[in-house]
Amino acid sequence: MFIIGLEGTAHTVGVSIVKNTGDVLSNIFETYDEKEGIHPREAANHHASHILTSIKKAIEEAGIEKEDIDLVAFSQGPGLGPCLRTVATAARSLSLALEVPLVGVNHCIAHLEIGRLRTEAENPVLLYVSGGNTQIIAFTKSRYRIFGETLDIGLGNMLDKFGREVGMDFPAGPKIEEKAKGGVELLELPYSVKGMDVEFSGIMTAALNQDASIEDRCYSIQETTFAMLTEVTERALAHTRKDEVLLGGGVVQNKRLQKMIEKMTEERGAAYYVPEPEFCIDNAAMIAWTGYLMYDSGTSISVEESNIRQKFRTDEVEVTWR
Ligand code: AMP
Ligand code: MG
Repeated sequence: MFIIGLEGTAHTVGVSIVKNTGDVLSNIFETYDEKEGIHPREAANHHASHILTSIKKAIEEAGIEKEDIDLVAFSQGPGLGPCLRTVATAARSLSLALEVPLVGVNHCIAHLEIGRLRTEAENPVLLYVSGGNTQIIAFTKSRYRIFGETLDIGLGNMLDKFGREVGMDFPAGPKIEEKAKGGVELLELPYSVKGMDVEFSGIMTAALNQDASIEDRCYSIQETTFAMLTEVTERALAHTRKDEVLLGGGVVQNKRLQKMIEKMTEERGAAYYVPEPEFCIDNAAMIAWTGYLMYDSGTSISVEESNIRQKFRTDEVEVTWR
C-alpha cells in the first residue's frame, strides 16, 4: 500500500510517499523564507505555487505511478489557516481524482509517530520544539496528551525574533547556537516555568535589554530556555512513569539542548532519541505515516468533513492505532 502525505501547517510545504511497511520512498520539501517573520497569506501563496511540482516530484522519486496511490493524508492542523487551506484543497482534489480515501492528521501527533518509526522509541515522552510550537506530549489513557506547553510563542520563533533584532538572518537558531559557544557569563534572565508550562517572550525582551556581549546573551538564552524545557520534560517523565524521551521539531537539532536532555535522561536511567534532521523538522513523511496508522485502524474522513482545524489539539484525536 502506498500513501501520499501532504504537509502545510506553517512555512514548509512537503509531499512524501510512504509504504505501509514504513519505508519512506520520497520526502520533498519547499520552505517559505520568512525573513520578516511568517506572513500567512504569502506562505500560503508559496505553498500553492509549489504543491503541484512537489507532488509530481514525490511520485517520481518514489518510482511509482499516481495510480498506485492508495491513500491521501494531509496535515489538518494545528497551523496557519491560509497554509492549511491550500494544502487541504490539494489533498481533497487528489483524493477525489484518484478515488482513494482521505485522512486528516494532527501535525503534533505526527511528529511523535515519525519518531517512533525512525528511532527505537516505543512509548516516549515527546519534547516537540519548533518555530511555532513547544509542547511536551505523551500517550496516556488512550490519548496523546499535552503535559506542558508554551503559554506564548514557540521557542524557535523566539530565537528567530531575537536573532532578527540583533541582525541575524533567518533562521537564527543555528546562529545563536554558534554564538553561544563563545559565551562565558550566565546573565540573569527570567526563568519562566509556570507549573508544567513555559513562557519565552519575557526572556527575549530581557536578553535584548541586557548590556552584554552577543555571545553571553545567546549563551544565556540557551542555558535558560533549555533548562526550563529539560525540567518540564523530566517532570513529565516522572509523572507518566515512562523511560524514553523523543525529540522533535527544528530546535532540537541544537546540540546543547540535546546534551542537556541526554544528561537528564542518563541520570534517570532513561533513553533519549532524536530522529534524523529531515524527520525532526516539518515533513510530509510523518503525515503519510500517521495517516496510514489511522487508516489501518479504521479512521478516514469524507471530503465534507475535511475542514482544516487551526487550533487542533493533540488530545482531541481519538487514537485508534495504539
Ligand atoms: P520547524 O518549525 O520545526 O521547521 O523548525 C524551525 C525552527 O528551528 C526555526 O525557528 C529555527 O531557528 C530553529 N532551529 C533550527 N536549527 C536550530 C538550532 N541548531 N538551534 C536552535 N534552533 C534551531
Ligand atoms: Mg512541526
